[in-house]
Amino acid sequence: MFPEKVARAAGTGASVPIECCQACGHALLENVLSLGYMPPVNQMVAIGEVARQQPWFPTNLFYCAQCELMQLGLAVDPAIIFPPEYPYTSGTTRLLRDNFRELYSEASVMLKLGPRDLVVDIGSNDGTLLAPFKLGDHRVLGIEPTDVVKIAAARGIPTLQRYFTPEVAAAVRAEHGPARVVTAANCFAHIEDIHSIVEGILHLLAPDGVFISESHYVIGLMDRLQYDTVYHEHLRYYSLGSLANLLRMHGLEVFHARPIPTHGGSIRVYAARSGVRPVSADVAAMLAAEPRGEAMRARLVTFRKDVLLSKLRLLATMRELKENGARIAGISAPSRASTLINYVGLDEAIIDYVCEIPGSLKIGKTMPGTAIPVVEESRLFEEQPDCAIVFSWHIAEELALKLRDKGFRGKLITPLPVPREI
Ligand SMILES: [Zn+2]
Repeated sequence: MFPEKVARAAGTGASVPIECCQACGHALLENVLSLGYMPPVNQMVAIGEVARQQPWFPTNLFYCAQCELMQLGLAVDPAIIFPPEYPYTSGTTRLLRDNFRELYSEASVMLKLGPRDLVVDIGSNDGTLLAPFKLGDHRVLGIEPTDVVKIAAARGIPTLQRYFTPEVAAAVRAEHGPARVVTAANCFAHIEDIHSIVEGILHLLAPDGVFISESHYVIGLMDRLQYDTVYHEHLRYYSLGSLANLLRMHGLEVFHARPIPTHGGSIRVYAARSGVRPVSADVAAMLAAEPRGEAMRARLVTFRKDVLLSKLRLLATMRELKENGARIAGISAPSRASTLINYVGLDEAIIDYVCEIPGSLKIGKTMPGTAIPVVEESRLFEEQPDCAIVFSWHIAEELALKLRDKGFRGKLITPLPVPREI
């Protein structure tokens, strides 16, 4: 039923090529895009540290015509890409906090959650998703491998510091009973050996339990040219079609799905055991709107060409600014900035520094693959560089308002889909 030749990088301390589809095992994957070699996005060396050798990994995007799954061509050991000191926290982004509050409102009504129902979040990060469920008096449990669990614990979200596996699922069920809801937001595309993850989720779910996932949406990724979200944490890039195909292999049926605004365009997908819940009409509508077959192949060719052109356009913009002697800063250091910077070839000679808000764990480090320092954003207001490039361009409007409010007077440029002053 499942692919025999599953690429497993965990425990290798390195990487392994993905030679057949992660979902269906199809061996003839089609190359969509090559971004070259990239450093892991969390490989941020401290400012001033002596330069040492660092691993870089090939970054290629492939398409499986058999099950429609877009995927990376390489699996990197999770110990490398999710180190315990992983500096990402979801609670610092307002859009994510709002999204998870809205998820709670939607799910608690649609699923008629009872007060003591158990909600388990896989890849629970700092507990931002579970916080509204806890306020709603449901039992919550996070599962998260990194040290970010300390932040979750401080806000009262019980969290198991483990990678999610079928064994962990069994242990959780034995201790807490079956879950009414299992959620996986922005991690269901990240974990390798996806089939054992889904088996673990099935084991954890009550017979009428519901699995809710939120993932970056591959159709929106192509429409808005978000190739910068391609990096090694993201092993898979789901359309609704490919996600439904994967879940169906385990007897799970998608019964509700809709687009949500997080990460520049994601999908929220509800699934339950086949036949347990009525399937809403929005599922068929979304599936019908997705390209497949030859239409998808044509779409992929356009995407590849547009990515290349966007790189050349951004370089032309940078060249013009530099010829006029402009000082250029960067706004925020999300993971996606690493892909953009390294693919386009921006470095410390072009970007003086990248700003993060006070409290960010990235301050004092350098952008992956470069010596561009990450500093506290007060420097931006003191030095007033001529121009700032917004790396979190998917939330540029929110950031621009804040930056103008705090007194930044320089140009603000978003790099994608085409460089644009905002
Ligand atoms: Zn496949």
